[in-house]
Amino acid sequence: MASWNQRTVAKRVSCTGVGLHSGRPATLTLAPAPADAGITFVRMDLGVEIPARNEHVVDTMLSTSLGRGGARVATVEHVMAALHGMGIDACRVEVDGPEIPILDGSAAPFTCLVQEAGVKVLPAGKRYLVVDQPVEIRDGDKLARLEPADGFSVSFTADFGHPLITDQSFQVKLGERAFEREVARARTFCFRRDIERMQAMGLAKGGSLENAIVVDEFSILNPEGLRFPDEFARHKVLDAIGDLALFGMPVVGALVAVKSGHAMNQALVKKVLADPAAHRVVRVTGEADAPALRAKVPALAIHEGSAA
Ligand SMILES: [Zn+2]
Repeated sequence: MASWNQRTVAKRVSCTGVGLHSGRPATLTLAPAPADAGITFVRMDLGVEIPARNEHVVDTMLSTSLGRGGARVATVEHVMAALHGMGIDACRVEVDGPEIPILDGSAAPFTCLVQEAGVKVLPAGKRYLVVDQPVEIRDGDKLARLEPADGFSVSFTADFGHPLITDQSFQVKLGERAFEREVARARTFCFRRDIERMQAMGLAKGGSLENAIVVDEFSILNPEGLRFPDEFARHKVLDAIGDLALFGMPVVGALVAVKSGHAMNQALVKKVLADPAAHRVVRVTGEADAPALRAKVPALAIHEGSAA
């Protein structure tokens, strides 16, 4: 069954935008890759390839950055979430600068790029990381926990001590088109009080109301308002999906996160990978493997071509 085979994009597709933190313009291209190649970021200006895996995470402050041999790519989580959410296993993500463009602050522009490219089915079964035992990271009242489950689900509870975002939570089970429908369009957000502090640190130079929700003490500053009443929690789910995509393959398990961020999510990925009793890697070689795996492959509203 083709639906259990790995997928890549069917052709090269590009977009251009500024980096949220660097403020620098960059062009991003999604390009086809062979079976088992996984997702790889390519710094075209430096000629350096960086596999999108936890072992290459070099920074988790505000965004997740990958690095190798002195070359870095920052803010990889939204494009990683989109590729994972669309069931793409192998792809070259080419970028000609140090940061992935922020575009509208959500993963929707990247899911649109995948739709535009179309999907090519590769001649190899998908690989999954199956969680067999609960693993968790705790830090005060913050929690990131992966536990065994059918399929892949994420639940996030946020509490920023803010009148608009107190105790907001969102839960989603991935599969079918749940990522596109419920998660992809949720934008990144920041507090007005934090903007000056971030810009003094040289961050958020590219930030604007075009690519982030900005909240002051009691209101949303964006004139168009929110895309979902719980857009903040949905975006944290989006970030967590992008962070867990750095396992290097889709996960079969349930993520329960309370106030976690990129650093805690990556610490959880590292802890799972370091514990052979807590996980196994399964390759689906046929439909018969599917029930045992308890996984669902995201459906696509676009035609799947054949690699043959
Ligand atoms: Zn984000």
